[in-house]
Amino acid sequence: MKKLIKGGYVVDPATNKDGLYDILIEGKKISKVDIMIEPKADMEIIDAAGQYIFPGFIDMHVHLREPGQEYKETVTTGLNAAAKGGFTTVACMPNTDPIIDNRSAVEALERKMRGNKVNLKVIGAATKGISTDQLTEMGDMKEAGIVAISNDGKPVPDANTVRRVLEYAKQFDLILIEHCEDLSLAKGGFIHEGYYSTTLGFKGIPREAEDLIVARDIALANMVDGKIHIAHISSKNAVELVREGKRKGINVTAEVTPHHLVLTDEAVSSFNTSTKINPPLRSEEDRQALIDGVLDGTIDIIATDHAPHARWEKEVEYAYAPFGAVGLETAFSLLYTTFVKNNTFTFRDLIEKMANKPGEIFKLGGTLKEGGNADIAIFNPNIDWTVEGKTFESMGQNTPFEGWDLEGVITTTLVKGDYAVKDSQVVR
Ligand SMILES: [Zn+2]
Repeated sequence: MKKLIKGGYVVDPATNKDGLYDILIEGKKISKVDIMIEPKADMEIIDAAGQYIFPGFIDMHVHLREPGQEYKETVTTGLNAAAKGGFTTVACMPNTDPIIDNRSAVEALERKMRGNKVNLKVIGAATKGISTDQLTEMGDMKEAGIVAISNDGKPVPDANTVRRVLEYAKQFDLILIEHCEDLSLAKGGFIHEGYYSTTLGFKGIPREAEDLIVARDIALANMVDGKIHIAHISSKNAVELVREGKRKGINVTAEVTPHHLVLTDEAVSSFNTSTKINPPLRSEEDRQALIDGVLDGTIDIIATDHAPHARWEKEVEYAYAPFGAVGLETAFSLLYTTFVKNNTFTFRDLIEKMANKPGEIFKLGGTLKEGGNADIAIFNPNIDWTVEGKTFESMGQNTPFEGWDLEGVITTTLVKGDYAVKDSQVVR
């Protein structure tokens, strides 16, 4: 049966839509987007009056923990969490156990995706086992479906290896997503080095640990004409380096997480281990630079870095807790409540960063164009809710936003025309 989404407010900067439109879905595709589409007997009507319609979000940075750490998250629980948050495509990082650094590991994950609705895209490791300087078989993994390469969790070990990775990746048109952290400078640190690390007596990670690797990799991308994407950017100097790199025409893109946009290292003084994140939550000055970077296009993408952990792992002393927070189910409502309501960002800013740009940069769709896949999120801004980790679809309850009152929920997620979320509930 065809589906007709009626009366909703469509925001899709990629097709220049910002107004009331109807959307007709036939099979897996969007067949028509128009001001008024006449309902017919063979159409299921989805009443979107008073709601917003967006291209389904694309998250280029999630940790699904499968294989090897299924007690934290599985492909299925992670993809259900994604659907709940309005994401129709997520790309998972390869730092699992074992690491996704070969063709059969990629294929095994793709098999796990079957039977789930949200599209899963795999990111392959850049070097074997992540910590080595031996390049992976990128061509082989690309044939099996990878959309990018990354050693996330760690940076590519040294400059010469980055150079070789970028040169090799270029042959397969793959972008290196780099976790930018100079490990010698960051060693032993677990919160931002600044006022709070001093007053709390916690070992800090200076922002320069990030800046050094961002500078190194932009220089190397320029040297070999390669493509570099800076993961979870957090420091003001790093934003400036990306801005300058773009100005010089270097192929550099960047992503920021919702938690780095919303929180500062002040949150750490709660001793809530869900605020322990890598890169760490930084100062207000850094946060403002990240917001500016989103507004002027220096930062291309918003990605959650969804990093689930078991409850017992985070219920330890701050210093001993693992890094990371979940983010798929709170991302859009959090950004809407924090930034759209006070006119810092528009819906267009968010949709560009959460759908259009990741789709464009990694060739994954991300718009509501006619003839494209019907990957769609519908958002009701008039429903308030309180964040409660225990109600998440994700097995990870480690949210730094526990107890926050947010506005707006995703009521419907369609993936290739099929319901992944209906009436705000995951369709299993
Ligand atoms: Zn990372």
